[in-house]
Amino acid sequence: MDNLWKAPGIPHKGWELHTVIDLGEEGYSFDEYETCMMCGQENIRYVHIVSHREINEDYRVGCVCAEKMTGDYVNPKRMETNPRNRATRRSNWKNANWKWSKKGNLFLKKSGHLLTVFKDQKTNNFKCIIDNEFGTVLHPNIGAAKTALFDKMEEMKEKEKW
Ligand SMILES: [Zn+2]
Repeated sequence: MDNLWKAPGIPHKGWELHTVIDLGEEGYSFDEYETCMMCGQENIRYVHIVSHREINEDYRVGCVCAEKMTGDYVNPKRMETNPRNRATRRSNWKNANWKWSKKGNLFLKKSGHLLTVFKDQKTNNFKCIIDNEFGTVLHPNIGAAKTALFDKMEEMKEKEKW
């Protein structure tokens, strides 16, 4: 990969950090670790999403580059050591390694549970299943069902804590 620090026309400063994605979260496999788009060298587990008003696309970069690009030497690292805020986890969740079953349902194995998004053929809506238990709510689309599963799993985790 190219080192964009040396490329003409790529700004070195003035980037804005939006979020940090942890590729090491469950649901991702290790071979999905990325290379920093800016330096082409850092092998990154925590992908820092940054943007710049003069550049059309978001860049996915490592912590070292994110610090230089934003001029912020606190937040890129802080968001990396604490990526487990709910918002980050929630967006990771939707992009997790969901698979299609032979019956045509989406499923995800997570924390010892089997989560399934089941299409209700009668209504064309979606139901959630955790292990063998059907949820009662009908969701209009797959994304909504995934989010509901996320919330339910968070709730279960909270209960297990005490
Ligand atoms: Zn880099």
